[in-house]
Amino acid sequence: MSVIYHKVALIGLGLIASSMALGMRKHGLASRIVGHARSAETRATALELGLVEQVFDTAAEAVKDADLVVFCVPIGVMADLAAEVAPHLKPGATISDVGSVKKAVVDAISPHVPLGVHFIPAHPLAGTEHSGPRSGFAGLFKNRWCLLTPLPDTEPEALTRLKAFWTALGANVDEMDPEHHDLVLAVTSHAPHLIAYTMVGVADDLKRVTEGEVINYSAAGFRDFTRIAASDPTMWRDVFLNNKEATLEILGRFTEELFDLQRAIRRGNGQQLFDYFTRTRAIRRGIIEAGQDTDAPDFGRTSKD
Ligand code: NAP
Repeated sequence: MSVIYHKVALIGLGLIASSMALGMRKHGLASRIVGHARSAETRATALELGLVEQVFDTAAEAVKDADLVVFCVPIGVMADLAAEVAPHLKPGATISDVGSVKKAVVDAISPHVPLGVHFIPAHPLAGTEHSGPRSGFAGLFKNRWCLLTPLPDTEPEALTRLKAFWTALGANVDEMDPEHHDLVLAVTSHAPHLIAYTMVGVADDLKRVTEGEVINYSAAGFRDFTRIAASDPTMWRDVFLNNKEATLEILGRFTEELFDLQRAIRRGNGQQLFDYFTRTRAIRRGIIEAGQDTDAPDFGRTSKD
């Protein structure tokens, strides 16, 4: 494949940024990749792994002359970073992000974007429970969706270029309004994470079942919850703080359904339970048919090529 952006600056060098760097290298999408992360340790690791050619102590230095700048940091720090880099952005550059919430990111970054710089928010729907520069792999975005939430005045050429970039990383690209993105993700990702966190917390609290029993006898359902609940605390704190309304709406609906099922169990209403589980099983089949998961016992998550 050919170069899409001459110089790319990755701000934040964790799971998503390292996967982007490896993907860019694999497919030859950038002539030069540089980066910045908060700690000297992460910056040194990124260099050692060859993710980037150069690291900078500040984000402001890293973005100089970059054609594409991507914020791969927790959502809560994006506003400050945008203010810091704004005066150093090259005219004509594209600034983007990978944050899991979009409306709050638009509000945080937009006010700082100088005239002549294209701001196009993005969210690759791909991740693992691991974090840091060593956790990335080039195939992370393969066959996953990347949702772009362009603003009304986004220049079509800049948008086409960013779409081509994510497509070249293996993603399927779609566009969405930022508020709608946040509602969709509250259903598909944010509320499920909160439920997993809660379930693992409940098991931890339940003193009548020992920790050893929980660990040794955890059935597949609980194991999956523990995997999700091992996700990065900073990232997920920021997701909930920044997608408050949509998450609360979905959790409200969730609680109503939960009470309904609770009543069905108490009253021995097997038919209600059976019908409900039949409906949810069909959703799982739909996800597999759409190629967003496999029905392999390990959920097909071992392939990292
Ligand atoms: P990560 O592995 O924890 O990496 C975060 C990076 O941000 C680290 O390099 C960290 O540097 C850096 N950082 C934090 N605060 C900073 C600051 N003030 N200035 C400069 N660098 C800072 O996180 P990630 O999983 O890649 O997530 C990054 C973004 O992607 C988040 O916004 C998240 O919502 C989004 N996202 C995540 C997933 C997922 O499943 N993980 C999926 C899609 C989107 P240090 O290492 O030096 O602390």
